[in-house]
Amino acid sequence: MNCNRIVFFICITIAGKIMAQAPRQFQGQGPIKGVSTEDRPVQKQWKGLFSFPGSEVFFDNDFEGGRLNGVARINDSTFSALITSENTPVNESPWYAFKVWSKRPQAITIVLTYQQGIRHRYAPRLSKNGHDWLSIEGPDAKKIFETDSLPVEYRFHLTVSRDTTWVAAQELYTSRRVKEWVKVISRKPGVTVTDIGRTHAGRPVTLLKIGNPASKNRMLIIGRQHPPEVTGQLAMQAFIENLNGDEPLAKKFREQFLIYLVPMMNPDGVDEGFWRHNAGGVDLNRDWAAFNQPETRAVRDFLQKELGDKNNKLWFGLDFHSTYDDIFYLVDPKLNGVLPGFIPAWLDQLRERIPGYTPNVKPLYSEGPTYTSFSYLFKTYGTEALVYEIGDKTSRDFIQQKSKVAATALMEMLLQKVN
Ligand SMILES: [Zn+2]
Repeated sequence: MNCNRIVFFICITIAGKIMAQAPRQFQGQGPIKGVSTEDRPVQKQWKGLFSFPGSEVFFDNDFEGGRLNGVARINDSTFSALITSENTPVNESPWYAFKVWSKRPQAITIVLTYQQGIRHRYAPRLSKNGHDWLSIEGPDAKKIFETDSLPVEYRFHLTVSRDTTWVAAQELYTSRRVKEWVKVISRKPGVTVTDIGRTHAGRPVTLLKIGNPASKNRMLIIGRQHPPEVTGQLAMQAFIENLNGDEPLAKKFREQFLIYLVPMMNPDGVDEGFWRHNAGGVDLNRDWAAFNQPETRAVRDFLQKELGDKNNKLWFGLDFHSTYDDIFYLVDPKLNGVLPGFIPAWLDQLRERIPGYTPNVKPLYSEGPTYTSFSYLFKTYGTEALVYEIGDKTSRDFIQQKSKVAATALMEMLLQKVN
């Protein structure tokens, strides 16, 4: 082997090592397939206190967002918690939330187990008050993008006492908490809150109007079609807080635009602790073609009334979600909406303004039925619409930073376009 060859092989070996170590980018989901969105039965969850003869440890799932379907005591200090979904087939987003305490302080082990075919996805978050949460894994938790690589169960240790510990898949962010947030947001002049319909189980579908109702320029933001997707909720709230802020840019934007916001599309699923569906047992973000469910119908009918023949223009639409890592799902950039090239230019601004960040982008709609909200908005109104997905484990600080930059760039760019 001559010298050049040796150098060549060393280079190949080093390159191979670097490639093996480099974190692979999340590939995003596959093409959206149509499924029936007719009502399907959902399993009622037993709610109450789980206790064991001779044990001083108690579990409880009887609160909004709670999910715990059974507890088995393995030995004095080990408990197996069974988590199951509202129905099947279902997305692999196994939400859980429960409280645990003990009459005397003691160390216990909890093993999270799931129904057949489902793997553990969400690292437990712990809270002492149900409001402030910390991940058991800390901020440097490894991100896993392939569900096949996830463990089938998850074992962790806790010291429990009379002082209740809350354990959940993500921060507990139920409709009660979103109502509190809406109350704060709506204190500002120019914000009105209305109900545009009722959910399958009769909860209100709440919509906020933010900005100038006399303006013909409109945009729509929705969130939480899928119950466990709390990081998307956090991103949406930070985004709106920037649009609704006191900076001159935000004030100017609100003079020239009216923002429609549905902060929680699926309060039934959230409050029942579901993994994916609404109380009709259906994935709402597959129902934007058939409109079998009251939540999607409420938004469709509202938009028809507001936009129909009134010459109002829905320039922009965002639907907030969560998945394994941050990603944006777009309409095929070859198709033109009301502002051709706008979304790629906006995402480019995120890359320029956030040091070290490159948006992960995947086109997910080009033709055919519009099962999802963003494709429905695009096809019906030409709206520049996309899905803003946040990773389950994305740092909560980065969520805030990204929302601020994204909202600021959006306001600047939309103002330029309409003036
Ligand atoms: Zn989702």
